[in-house]
Amino acid sequence: MNATSVAGLLRPRSIDQACDAVRDCARLGRSTIPMGARHAMGGQQFLDGGWLLDTGGLDAILDFDAERGLLTVQAGVRWPAVLDWLARHPDNRRGWTIRQKQTGADDFSLGGAFAANIHGRGLAFAPFVEDVESIVLIDERGQAMCADRSENAERFALAAGGYGLFGLVAQLTLRLVPRTWLRREVELVRVGELMPRLDAAIAQGCSYGDFQFAIDPRSDDFLDLGIVSCYRPIAAPAAADADARHLRSEDFARLLCLAHTDPGRAFSEYSNFYLATHGQHYLSDAQQSGIYLDGYHAQVDTVLGHCGSEMITELYVPRPRLAAFMACAADSLRRHDAQPIYGTVRLIQRDPTSMLAWAREDWACVVFNLHVRHDVAGRAAAAGAFRALIDDALRYGGSYYLTYHRHATRAQVVAAYPQFPRFLQRKRELDPDRRWDSDWYRHHEALFADRAR
Ligand SMILES: Cc1cc2nc3c(=O)[nH]c(=O)nc-3n(C[C@H](O)[C@H](O)[C@H](O)COP(=O)(O)OP(=O)(O)OC[C@H]3O[C@@H](n4cnc5c(N)ncnc54)[C@H](O)[C@@H]3O)c2cc1C
Repeated sequence: MNATSVAGLLRPRSIDQACDAVRDCARLGRSTIPMGARHAMGGQQFLDGGWLLDTGGLDAILDFDAERGLLTVQAGVRWPAVLDWLARHPDNRRGWTIRQKQTGADDFSLGGAFAANIHGRGLAFAPFVEDVESIVLIDERGQAMCADRSENAERFALAAGGYGLFGLVAQLTLRLVPRTWLRREVELVRVGELMPRLDAAIAQGCSYGDFQFAIDPRSDDFLDLGIVSCYRPIAAPAAADADARHLRSEDFARLLCLAHTDPGRAFSEYSNFYLATHGQHYLSDAQQSGIYLDGYHAQVDTVLGHCGSEMITELYVPRPRLAAFMACAADSLRRHDAQPIYGTVRLIQRDPTSMLAWAREDWACVVFNLHVRHDVAGRAAAAGAFRALIDDALRYGGSYYLTYHRHATRAQVVAAYPQFPRFLQRKRELDPDRRWDSDWYRHHEALFADRAR
């Protein structure tokens, strides 16, 4: 949905080469933007007519402090390589691992995770910036600098969740946590009962969890009934789970298709599967990895007879107002004739570090993946639904994730991100020649330049 023609691709294989590439761009008056695995949705990793700085060649694991649990990696490395390295490294006797990653897919770069300031399904974690001790950043002049919470602290705060607009993160030092065994506990609950359930789970030491809700707009259960899963730390199980149940790729493909054609049945089959996994054991890192079906929508298109895909949005609301927000969002989605294919609620803790922090408070995070037809009417309908959901979140004192799409109005951006004008101002001051630029940034600059919008 973001077809982009670029001038070219630069693929450095070392920090020196990356600095040279940025200096060459500066000398030639070119703008560039870093890219990792290119899975972002708002065009922030693309630059129409410009140069993309592909971090795929910066994928080395550089240093491991097995005493303190610190891992230094180049920013182009992707999660599966990091997890595999940690699982196999002979010095990792304490079982250090990552605390959180995105759920739903694995093939993301760590630089992209930092620049988007991602989160996973932790019940009591702040976003990813809090898992990062320090970075090496290449600035708009092609100079590498170390940055953390005390050295070049403003750069660190701008680069975390700064979508590549303040430099190339070449290297990150990750704060690891001990790998633990977890027991999954699953229950079917109404959204009104969710926060007390999650609060109790947190109080009892559960570290991960989420709530996957019903997606059929014709049903009274819509956005109300859901499966809450919590993951409780336990001692290592004596034996592997007998008859453990896992969804295979073909099961996912079938359920995804069913979510488009019979969402009520899709939810009931999915929740029955989940309920059957109650009591199964998982490693704390492995439970965050999952199957992603590249190109699955081609099969759905054949069944539906039109071309489409899912678009994601994430809304944040104060936790005590979650149930009221969900009722309001259900009305909005019905009014806009929108079809969620998947939806989940997770929790986030306040981000004390990044400048453009999306987690301004301890919030409940609500994700909707809406089916969007790839035609003019379908895109316009999606834009309307996304704006309505943002209004709902704002009405309840919440916010939305800035870069999943570009449908927010200027008033919505400012209400959700009061620090946004300051972010734009620091961008103009620190990078007056726009060495770092992106389609997402261009859109927002235009939005803020045009008083009428
Ligand atoms: C199926 C799916 C599931 C997802 N689930 C989650 C989830 O659970 N939680 C969540 O928070 N997000 C989730 N996301 C969003 C995803 O985390 C972000 O889009 C992430 O940025 C993707 O990483 P990437 O390597 O593809 O980055 P890209 O798309 O390549 O880049 C994303 C941004 O990071 C910048 N960037 C990339 N590398 C660097 C670097 N080295 N230095 C500076 N800037 C850089 C780019 O310029 C761009 O602005 C999901 C996305 C998909 C497709």
